[in-house]
This record gives sequence, structure tokens and C-alpha cells, in this order.
Amino acid sequence: TREWHLAARPHGEPTPADFRLVETELADPADGQVLVRTTAMSVDPYMRGRMNAGRSYAAAWELGEPMQGGAVGEVLQSRSDRVPVGSRVLHGLGWREHAVVDASQVVVLPELEGIPLTYHLGVLGMPGLTAWAGLFRLAEFHEGDAVFVSGAAGAVGSLVGQFARLRGASAVVGSAGTPEKVRWLTEELGFTAAFDYHDGPVRTSLAAAAPDGIDVFFDNVGGEHLEAAIGALRLHGRAALCGAISGYNTTEAPPGPRNMMLVVGQQLSLRGFIVGSHTDLRPEFQEAVAGWLRSGELVARETVVEGLDHAVTAFLDMLRGANTGKMVVRVGG
Ligand code: NDP
Repeated sequence: TREWHLAARPHGEPTPADFRLVETELADPADGQVLVRTTAMSVDPYMRGRMNAGRSYAAAWELGEPMQGGAVGEVLQSRSDRVPVGSRVLHGLGWREHAVVDASQVVVLPELEGIPLTYHLGVLGMPGLTAWAGLFRLAEFHEGDAVFVSGAAGAVGSLVGQFARLRGASAVVGSAGTPEKVRWLTEELGFTAAFDYHDGPVRTSLAAAAPDGIDVFFDNVGGEHLEAAIGALRLHGRAALCGAISGYNTTEAPPGPRNMMLVVGQQLSLRGFIVGSHTDLRPEFQEAVAGWLRSGELVARETVVEGLDHAVTAFLDMLRGANTGKMVVRVGG
């Protein structure tokens, strides 16, 4: 069986040479473990942090060891009563064709009509819960708010904008990196306005898209986007700080917002969060989202890359914006 190992820690932008595809013996599951055949795995921005030494919010990957991440698959062998052979499961040992996993670390997935298994890596999984927790708990979104989301055509951002629309936002503005993504946001996802952040200063584009300002900002990008949003937030505005991908590959600390005094004057709240601290919201999140998927009100788009061989390419391409919606890698038939 094959698995991806971390070969080197990058300085700046990672390259294919930082990874190695390794052929290895398939181990038998021990008591309490299951053997899973991976059908799809996730590539996510937080994995860039796991390539670095030391702790970010997720533990660093070890050099010369298999990498980890979200994956779905089918149980081939089981030494646990809780997880029978044939179960479809979600677990944290992605980046490999087969995984031997403790049954306690496996979520057995329900068979939901019309819901592909890969949705548990995206709209119904970690990115979806991130969007939900950030918008509703951290940013305290309520009906009538005007919302701005950066990274709006990605896995998390595309859901934030749609959740806001479905819950009665007065306006939903998004930024993204290509004209196609911008069109997708306004034409397919129901954003009120969207802009390509390459077209000029974010502050100018945001002022044009939301001339009356915003109440809520959901930040996936950081840097210039954060400064522009602070400038656009109205009195008592709220921001959920989810990520800052514009700085993940930089080798120097990115500049901070120069307008922090507005946080005082406008009495803003800026709250950072990690999805893992909000898993108590999972039942209400999954119920609402499954309902919107069934009714067709929510668009869940995936960019699918075929084959474990191409997993690193998919990861590097995702960091550069090749994905619309959730980037997933299909691993086996
Ligand atoms: P996405 O699906 O949004 O993929 C990443 C996207 O980032 C790319 O498609 C690209 O789109 C955009 N991007 C890359 N470089 C830049 C740049 N320099 N400036 C602006 N945009 C850029 O990923 P996710 O939805 O999975 O994650 C989105 C954010 O949420 C990330 O910051 C991630 O770290 C964070 N996150 C945080 C969690 C938490 O618990 N706090 C949990 C999950 C995610 P484009 O073409 O628009 O540039």
C-alpha cells in the first residue's frame, strides 16, 4: 500500500520535493482497530502549518512519517464491535491508500440519500462546521446583518455566504481570486456583490460593493483584507477571524492592520477561533445543512482531483486558488 510522507520542511512556498510517496507493508489491525480503504481525502490550508516544526494549532507532521488529515473510506477488516466491516467512515489518517485506525478515532457515517461521502470532508464536515461556528457563534450573525466574507469561493467561505443568505442577511459580499469565482458567487450562490481582490485595493473594492458598510466580517485571508474590513465595519460590528491564508507562505511576519484605533472608536469585536472548540454545535449544524442540501437551497461544490499520486499537486494547487468550493482527492474506486 502507498502513503505520503513529509520529506522536508519548506521555507516559504512548499514544493513537490517536500513530499515523498512511499510503498509500505499493510499492517493487520490490532484488537480495537479497523482497516480502512481510503476512498477520498481532504487537503486543507491548515496542513501548511503542520509542515512547520513546532506547534501551530494542529501538531506538526514528523519528517519521514506519514502525513495525516481528514479522509473517508470503507472498513475492510474490523476488530471492534462498534465499527463493522463494510461501514463507511470518517477518520484522521488521510494521505494513504489504507489506514489502520483505532475504532475510537473513527466516525461511522450514516447513509444519507443523495449525499456523497466526500461531503463529510466539506459541507457536512470540518469546513462546514467552521463556517457555522464562525458566523453564528463567534460573529453573532443575526437577520438583517450585512456580511463580508474573504476567501468567499473556497470551502469555508462559500458556505459562510450562503448560510448568511439563508438566514436573512441584508447583504452578502465576497472576495475571491478570479473573475470566474466572482461570477459564481453572484450568479449561483446568491451573493449580493463580489469582487476579485486582484482588481485594486481591497478597501476600494469593498467600499464599492458595500457602500453603507458591514456588520459582520468573516476572515479567511487576513492582511489587507482584514484592514479593509475593519475600515468598513459599522458601530458594534463583529469579525470572526478564521484564517489568514495570505500569510501562510510568507517568510516574514505580515503587516498588521494600521487602523486598529477604529476597533476602539467603533466598539468592534474581533474574535479568533478554532473549529475544534465548537463541536457542540455539530448536531444543529448538520441538521440545518442536511435540510438545505435536501431542499436544494444550498450549493455544495467540490473540486475533485483523481488519484493519490496527485494529492500533493492538489494540496499545492489549493493553496494557490485552483479550487472552487472544497478541494478533495479521490483515492480509490
Ligand atoms: P479554501 O477552500 O478557501 O482554499 C484556499 C483558498 O485560499 C484558495 O482557493 C485561494 O482562493 C485562497 N487564497 C490563497 N492565497 C491567497 C491570498 N494570498 N489572498 C487571498 N486568498 C488566497 O480553504 P478552506 O475553506 O478550507 O479554508 C479557508 C480558511 O479558513 C483558511 O484560512 C483556513 O486556514 C481557515 N480555516 C480555519 C479553521 C479554524 O478552525 N479556524 C478551520 C478550517 C479552515 P482565491 O482564488 O480566492 O485566491
